Amino acid sequence: MITNKQLFLDYVGQTSLSPMGLEFTKAEGIYIYDKKGKAYIDLVSGVSVSNLGHSNSNIIKSVCDQIKSYSHLMVYGEYIQSPQVELARLLSENLPEGLDKIYYVNSGSEAIEGALKLAKKYTGRSELISFRNAYHGSTHGALSIMGDEKLKTDFRPLLPDTRILNFNSVADLQKITSKTACVIAEVIQAEAGIIIPQNNFLKKLKERCSDTGALLIFDEIQTGFGRTGTLFAFEHYKVIPDILTIAKAMGGGMPIGAFVSSRDIMNKLCNNPELGHITTFGGHPVSCASGLASLQILLGENYISTSEEKSNLFRKYLKHKCIKSIRGKGLFLAVELEDPRILRKFQNICIELGIIFDLFLFCDNAFRIAPPLIITREQIKETCELLLEAFNRSKN
Ligand code: PLP
Repeated sequence: MITNKQLFLDYVGQTSLSPMGLEFTKAEGIYIYDKKGKAYIDLVSGVSVSNLGHSNSNIIKSVCDQIKSYSHLMVYGEYIQSPQVELARLLSENLPEGLDKIYYVNSGSEAIEGALKLAKKYTGRSELISFRNAYHGSTHGALSIMGDEKLKTDFRPLLPDTRILNFNSVADLQKITSKTACVIAEVIQAEAGIIIPQNNFLKKLKERCSDTGALLIFDEIQTGFGRTGTLFAFEHYKVIPDILTIAKAMGGGMPIGAFVSSRDIMNKLCNNPELGHITTFGGHPVSCASGLASLQILLGENYISTSEEKSNLFRKYLKHKCIKSIRGKGLFLAVELEDPRILRKFQNICIELGIIFDLFLFCDNAFRIAPPLIITREQIKETCELLLEAFNRSKN
């Protein structure tokens, strides 16, 4: 009989020649189950999506209730739909002044596209600045500002007037000028291998943007919704962007994204001419309902406030001669290895032991620990014991 794996390889578009190819039938809490019923501890969270774990009953209920009332009604922006309105209000109430209006899209990349367009329209300038080893998505605009050349070359020509600076380089900030429409930065660089801003870098970046009239965009698509121990990572550094991009965990497991800005900036997109940005499915009511339930839980429970303590547990338990360092914030960690050559073997042993983790796009000597924020202290201990066992077996 032809297997699902064969059908997957034959009929589903692939992203690499060697996909993980695991087949899952169920997911609950921090666990994902394969078809034989084997449980895997999820240290990926669908790449920072499942911050409340899998199959949360309140989220499921919100999705079912909404789909019974109505699903898609009309292209974005024409009708008043209460899941959109309520989610926008709750988000805005939990963001600083100046991040008041939410423009809904379907994904992180689309949020980036919208944010770049908004910055160009508002400033009347064209230069887009980003940082080395930044990942902002795979669509043409997002790819144009990607901070790595390898994935871009085959798709050139991309957007003109882009420039890449070094993250944490204060000297490079001088390259932001009165020609710059916007500077886009991840608050903590994700695919670069969890790189933390140093020495007030973000404050200095904001100052330079203000001095030159460039808009500052923070991409919190991966760091948002509690991942780093605050609702949004910029709260750690007390620097507020002009535009914020969000997605991933925003939908509680359903697809959605958004860019957020002040009313003054955002209103540029809807006039002169009208329809400056349009999308059919942006802010899908079922995704908004799910996102609203998810945000209510995040704000009502203590998952965010306990994540730094949980982070410290990982650091405490993960002591091994294979580990060079652990960096990150909250439950957004990179474990750097003494000898990165063991990484693939280590990953395969982890899968055997029932642990799934992810690697980084632009950092090949570390792996990512980003479990659902609901992970308990006991589960962290159990996870670390398994990781240590996998390290012992990887050395041989
Ligand atoms: N920005 C960051 C920081 C991301 O990590 C990602 C996806 O991994 C994106 C943007 C693109 O989001 P999406 O895959 O939803 O288009």
